[in-house]
Parts: sequence; structure tokens; C-alpha cells
Amino acid sequence: MEPIAKKWYDNLGQGKIMGTKCLDCGAFTFPPLTVCRKCNSRNVQWQEISGKGTLIMYSSTILPAKKFTKYAPIPYGIVKLEEGPCFFTKIEGADVSSTEAIIKGNEQLPVEVKAEIQKVEGVNIVAFRK
Ligand SMILES: [Zn+2]
Repeated sequence: MEPIAKKWYDNLGQGKIMGTKCLDCGAFTFPPLTVCRKCNSRNVQWQEISGKGTLIMYSSTILPAKKFTKYAPIPYGIVKLEEGPCFFTKIEGADVSSTEAIIKGNEQLPVEVKAEIQKVEGVNIVAFRK
């Protein structure tokens, strides 16, 4: 595993969701990278996210990756983090019971969501809760 991925999962295991902040331009990158997404500087430092975000849109997947099929349909959406970046991930509490429910749910957006770490099939993932 690459060092940055290892560090990401090690932090999740300790309950910390980290991104990287550029010390040159101040931009925040999430998920963390060794370079700034805005100015390509390598002068970045790891920083925990606030966990606050805004749900921009969501839908569901009826055909997730094979090891997750028993969880389908899984609500997925785009969250704009308080720190700036957008992140595509699982959304807890979003109604995906029918096409109508998804349309209706999206009409009520944007809403505030909160990050949480979930252990799924032995892997820590970052989800957001509506
Ligand atoms: Zn930068």
C-alpha cells in the first residue's frame, strides 16, 4: 500500500478523517494528496476535517462493487465539505426506496450533513449522515 493510503486508513482507524492543507495558497485537498489540488505545491500538511458538509445531490447504486452487493441499494451523493472540496460517497439517511423518493429527496437539497467513519466489510470508509 502506498504511504499516503496507509496513513489515510491508519488515521481512520483512530477516528480521524484527514485532508491536506496547502501551506502556500491555503487550499484544502480531500481526500489527502501529497500535492495541492490548486497550485500543485508539495508544501502541504495533514489536517483533520471539521466533518461538516452540504449534500449537493444524491442517487443510489443498485449494482455496487461485488463485495458490497448485499447492501444495495446504497445511497451515494456529492458532499461539499466546509473546507471547500467536493467528495462523492455514501450518504446515510437519504431515502432511496424508489425513484420518486430520490427525486423528492433531491428537491429538498442542499442540506447539512455530518461525516462519520463506518466499518464496512472490514474496511473503514468515510460516509456522511443526513
Ligand atoms: Zn496550494
